[in-house]
Amino acid sequence: MRTDVLIVGAGPTGLALACQLIRYDVDFIIIDKNETTTPHSKAIGVQARTLEIYEQIGLAEPLINLGTLASKAKMFAGGQIRGEIEFGALGKGMSPYPYILFVEQGRHETLLHDFITSHTREVKWKTELEKFSQTASGVSAQLKKASGEIETVEAKYLIGCDGAKSLVRHSLDLKFEGSTFERMFYVADVRLDWEYGHDALQVFLMRNSLLAFFPMTGEKQYRIVGTFPEEFSKDEGDILYDEIEEQIKQDADLELDITHVNWFSTYKVHTRHVNKFSEGRCFLAGDSAHIHTPAGAQGMNTGIQDGYNLAWKLAHVLKNGSGEKLLNTYNEERLPNAEALMKTTDRFFNLAAGKNPIFAFIRLYIFPYVAQFLFSLNVVKRFVFPRISQIAISYQDSSLSKTKGAFKVKAGDRMPWFEIDSKSVYDYLHQPVFHLLIFSTGKTEIPQLPEDLMSKWHGKIDSHFFDLSSPVAEKFGISRSFFLILRPDNYIGMISDDFSATEVEQYLDIFR
Ligand SMILES: Cc1cc2nc3c(=O)[nH]c(=O)nc-3n(C[C@H](O)[C@H](O)[C@H](O)COP(=O)(O)OP(=O)(O)OC[C@H]3O[C@@H](n4cnc5c(N)ncnc54)[C@H](O)[C@@H]3O)c2cc1C
Repeated sequence: MRTDVLIVGAGPTGLALACQLIRYDVDFIIIDKNETTTPHSKAIGVQARTLEIYEQIGLAEPLINLGTLASKAKMFAGGQIRGEIEFGALGKGMSPYPYILFVEQGRHETLLHDFITSHTREVKWKTELEKFSQTASGVSAQLKKASGEIETVEAKYLIGCDGAKSLVRHSLDLKFEGSTFERMFYVADVRLDWEYGHDALQVFLMRNSLLAFFPMTGEKQYRIVGTFPEEFSKDEGDILYDEIEEQIKQDADLELDITHVNWFSTYKVHTRHVNKFSEGRCFLAGDSAHIHTPAGAQGMNTGIQDGYNLAWKLAHVLKNGSGEKLLNTYNEERLPNAEALMKTTDRFFNLAAGKNPIFAFIRLYIFPYVAQFLFSLNVVKRFVFPRISQIAISYQDSSLSKTKGAFKVKAGDRMPWFEIDSKSVYDYLHQPVFHLLIFSTGKTEIPQLPEDLMSKWHGKIDSHFFDLSSPVAEKFGISRSFFLILRPDNYIGMISDDFSATEVEQYLDIFR
């Protein structure tokens, strides 16, 4: 078998990458050693940036319809509610999806899988990557089917979306350094009877532990996540469900009845990332490249964004004649993000459940009482939401980012969200091409782009002309006419207040 791209692993990262490659009409094969998508709930937190990405392929609304939006968090300590935070519209004005969505990973994966099959592509289930080798021109991969039959795939590129224990990463001999948390985590999907409502994320604040109930689709259905105390010495696999239930009741410290258990699992949390996202023609994405604490619901969302960053670059190299050096920018952009994410999730986890006595004091005796006030402040919303929702991820230091002029929003930032004449600006940006956006005050003449430039880029860039309204001027921090070139992933490639055909041409030449 021959293909352009071999995707190893059909978890959320591999499936979302396949959806993107369909969008660019890139030829690929996707395999997974499992029989089908996961039946388990695993990652339930879906961030705004993931929904913005899905909107472009028509999957945001269907995913939202499968999930639950928690509008508030209630904080308990010592068996009593100590505080409440409203966060249903925490990101109002920052994203069309100003919340966090809870959907079981199994349902999420099924939606992505259905997208793939509805585009006449398929996942080759029960097919395992055994080994591979690469040359300067391609990758040769040996696959084992459930029948024992061995098949060889010749691909131009291989992407390892094969999870934390990645064979691809091991075979490439890449480092995966970091640390492992001492405490054992548990997760349980349950039906719960208690006196509190189903409309909130319930967080139990403790001195050195973690317990949270997430409302899930279905009456009285919850995802419970927690940790055993540090001295708990059993290994994963030896722990009985009864021990988990006992720990939940002890930590929640209030009346509750778990009437049904759909699934439970225990795990140790690692926090690690690779030293490099690629080697030759092989790339890593998702958990194969980075793993962190579940704090902040970042893991799956980050994997989806890895694939989103890589897909358009692969498409441009394979179909539009871009040089292979464009693929180096995948590591250049995603490695700093993985490094930063690891630090943030560790810090967040320590604040939420670490044993530092100062953090524990703040957590128990200060935070619950001031949280509601804090989260009502715009300055706090503007700090917290972009970071959790992943809309703040930026590639300002990338070699693909060129800012000319003084702007609040820089090249390398995600295209900010706003409305133009009551229409989302993203509605103009669904096509998988570069976008030239000109915002004009009408005071200066905008030169025409020359015919030869337009024909060279025909079908690969579209253009949009808007009046510079005050909200847009405020958002970008400029009152003069300016233009943007958005990359196909809707990150700003170039922003400048000096529009000329030469500027545009020079920027686009990077991709030739
Ligand atoms: C309890 C829990 C809660 C979590 N909550 C969140 C959350 O709320 N939000 C969030 O963003 N993240 C969360 N995460 C993390 C999230 O689940 C992972 O980040 C995500 O599953 C990673 O996706 P992936 O596709 O990269 O890897 P995986 O989901 O591990 O998928 C890898 C796939 O590769 C296949 N594979 C492996 N080796 C081979 C091979 N040799 N050949 C063929 N196929 C192979 C596997 O069968 C598997 O299907 C949570 C994780 C857990 C455990």
